[in-house]
Amino acid sequence: MVSSAAPNTDDVLVLGAGAAGLFCAFTAGQRGRRVRVIEHANKVGKKILMSGGGRCNFTNTGTTHANYLSANPHFCKSALARYKPADFIALVERHGIRYHEKELGQLFCDESSKLIVRMLVDECRDAQVAIETDCAITAVSHRNGRYEVATPRGLYTAASLVVATGGLSIPSMGATGFGYQLARQFGHAVLPTRAGLVPLTLSGKPLDDHADLAGVALPVEAASGHQRFRGALLITHRGLSGPAILQISSYWQPGEPLSLNLLPDLDAADWLAAQQAERPATMLQTVLAEVLPKRYAQRLCERWLPSRPLRQYRPAELKAIAAQLESWPVTASGTEGYRTAEVTLGGVDTDGLDSKTMASRHQPGLYFIGEVVDVTGWLGGYNFQWAWASGHAAGLAVSGS
Ligand SMILES: Cc1cc2nc3c(=O)[nH]c(=O)nc-3n(C[C@H](O)[C@H](O)[C@H](O)COP(=O)(O)OP(=O)(O)OC[C@H]3O[C@@H](n4cnc5c(N)ncnc54)[C@H](O)[C@@H]3O)c2cc1C
Repeated sequence: MVSSAAPNTDDVLVLGAGAAGLFCAFTAGQRGRRVRVIEHANKVGKKILMSGGGRCNFTNTGTTHANYLSANPHFCKSALARYKPADFIALVERHGIRYHEKELGQLFCDESSKLIVRMLVDECRDAQVAIETDCAITAVSHRNGRYEVATPRGLYTAASLVVATGGLSIPSMGATGFGYQLARQFGHAVLPTRAGLVPLTLSGKPLDDHADLAGVALPVEAASGHQRFRGALLITHRGLSGPAILQISSYWQPGEPLSLNLLPDLDAADWLAAQQAERPATMLQTVLAEVLPKRYAQRLCERWLPSRPLRQYRPAELKAIAAQLESWPVTASGTEGYRTAEVTLGGVDTDGLDSKTMASRHQPGLYFIGEVVDVTGWLGGYNFQWAWASGHAAGLAVSGS
């Protein structure tokens, strides 16, 4: 998509044609701003296309500020309050995109993520937004009240510059640290970044204990510090994944304790005592295999919980086993990193931004939106809702002079 408009007549330049950039661009365009989006990849919205397993979990109806990690947990409130999940759902419905709720307020397209990208591009077209793809940015500067963006296609200038270049996750999809570089260039602090919503890796004995169980899945509650998430755990060839692990990965740091409740739907002590009373001759492994995947129960009993007929356990022993099952320690060695992470934690410090408009407090006409900002959502549609809401906030604020 290459526009025919003359490069120097723009009011607003948006860097990055992802979720936040496209949303901001058409919001500003609808207000009569002349907007140009500059994207270095060969097509727009690549992460949207791969999101939600190809069906884009585009929002979560239960979104609140409590679903986000940020050094300032209050920062995201204003933008989220002014553009709600219901607003995005209304947009999706206007475009005739069918969707369904999977669980816990997570809304997915019935057909394909492509429809969300098409909707954003159609909105941009209707708002006369110019989109340049395959356009590398070589330098950005601010001179005489205008931003200058140098590219091999020439110099683009505008009064407002919106940085929507996302985080570092999935470099193969076009992710770069360019937004952080620009933030520092214009005097913003950037908080340390790390991979979030990412599988955990095991090494040494913990890996040996699990690797041949790759593919086994079970419901757990994963806990780190005061945070806990219920959901599926999936054992992989490298370690642990699945929604519960991805969620807790955003709160866990290497070296910190991490534990799993392997029986999240039971009171383990009561349940084991009842099993002992009802069928004292049954082996521990047999009863565990009724509430856990068989191979996993077998592994637990082979390596850590020697299996005997239930009548042979003293009450204190059964209680100790129950406590172990409810707080099973995990020694993860690290994460799979940005290669597979869904998001990047940290980023542009919100202290330097206005929470209502996403405008820089240091540099007039400069805005940061989406994942490049130190606001990171849980798994479940919250990250797109932040992209839409922060894009909307900046789109309503950007000016042409
Ligand atoms: C596999 C996967 C699945 C996901 N699924 C979901 C989901 O179902 N629901 C959900 O809420 N979130 C999901 N996410 C997270 C979500 O995709 C992101 O949080 C969201 O896309 C962030 O929007 P953004 O516009 O800030 O950044 P992005 O969408 O990453 O867009 C940034 C854009 O900037 C461009 N760019 C980068 N550097 C430059 C540069 N130097 N010059 C020009 N352009 C540049 C990039 O190519 C990209 O197009 C998923 C993420 C991944 C990786």
